Amino acid sequence: SGSLTVAELAEKLNKDSSEIIKKLMSLGVMATKNQDLDADSIELICGEFNVEVEEEVVVDETDLDVYINEEDAPENLQIRPSVVTIMGHVDHGKTTLLDTIRKTKVTEGEAGGITQHIGAYQVEENGKPITFLDTPGHAAFTSMRSRGAQVTDIAIIVVAADDGVMPQTVEAINHAKAAEVPIIVAVNKMDKEGANPDRVKQELMEYELVPEEFGGETIFVHLSAVKGEGIDDLLEMIVLVSEVEEFKANPNRAATGTVIEAQLDKGRGSVATLLVQNGTLNVGDSLVVGNTFGRVRAMVNDIGRRVKTAPPSTPVEITGLSDVPEAGDRFVVFEDEKKARSVGEARQQRKIVENRGDNTKVSLDDLFEQI
Ligand code: GDP
Ligand code: MG
Repeated sequence: SGSLTVAELAEKLNKDSSEIIKKLMSLGVMATKNQDLDADSIELICGEFNVEVEEEVVVDETDLDVYINEEDAPENLQIRPSVVTIMGHVDHGKTTLLDTIRKTKVTEGEAGGITQHIGAYQVEENGKPITFLDTPGHAAFTSMRSRGAQVTDIAIIVVAADDGVMPQTVEAINHAKAAEVPIIVAVNKMDKEGANPDRVKQELMEYELVPEEFGGETIFVHLSAVKGEGIDDLLEMIVLVSEVEEFKANPNRAATGTVIEAQLDKGRGSVATLLVQNGTLNVGDSLVVGNTFGRVRAMVNDIGRRVKTAPPSTPVEITGLSDVPEAGDRFVVFEDEKKARSVGEARQQRKIVENRGDNTKVSLDDLFEQI
């Protein structure tokens, strides 16, 4: 779109082609009359003739980033819960840790109980809510980030004290660093014979994760996920980091966020767990989710309770979408139902076209690993 031939540019500038060619030569560019000029050359030439180039800004209404990136005035921002992902080498205790936190912190008497699994849950530490992503931590980073979605505020890197730093530990550190999120190191399996937290600390120095006792700034917490020891320390540290970072969102706008997981349910149709990242999601809202769209028919929170609204950093399971989106897809609520439909249909259409020529695409599931 930004390209013009020498002759076309000459006409726009009310000059003769030869004048343009001369100017180009003086800039060290040899060109002919019918040659295409790139945007940089056009700007250079215009500069030479003292003409300002007005860039045409075309807003692609089907690009969800346009809505997601709409900035909020600072006075509309409020503190929101942090969203935490647990990563680390296989068998170092990620699943056990997530289960232990959930069991010890979600009140047993709550309706729906703790059997509900929606891919994320919220707990409270000293009255401060924390959202944990219960999905494969590495996948949350790799697949979601490759789609431009960043869902995590804080990364917990679990290292088994009897095993030390392993390849996936390093991978996890790299993901967290690439995402520029604060890291808390959880040295797990402290109950085990052969547990050697000092060795873990030594090994992590190589990756610039230096504990305070060695003059660094990285927070280390000692845990036994199976015995439930150190869980409160970990949660306290998460709250501490959250207070320093001051994660914020605007609860008073149309919601945007990311799909944590989704599947087709025989009775309920498309069921998707969404993490609300900005705004507040309401039952009845019209939304576009990845390449699908719909209206929020029903919304269930992480303890299986029906809710009508979901503020920032809340995970909820929704029904009402026309198709099943993918983990990592972003969603945007539109106040205008017709607009949601037209954007959704355009995206659905485009996806069909994109998929036709693309048989080599790796499915997101291929990238997922079980935690
Ligand atoms: P993941 O692969 O990182 O999710 O690891 P898991 O949570 O599945 O744990 C792997 C194994 O380590 C399981 O047998 C757990 O019971 C065990 N494990 C996890 N945390 C601890 C711990 O704190 N102490 C001990 N002794 N074993 C643990
Ligand atoms: Mg696991």
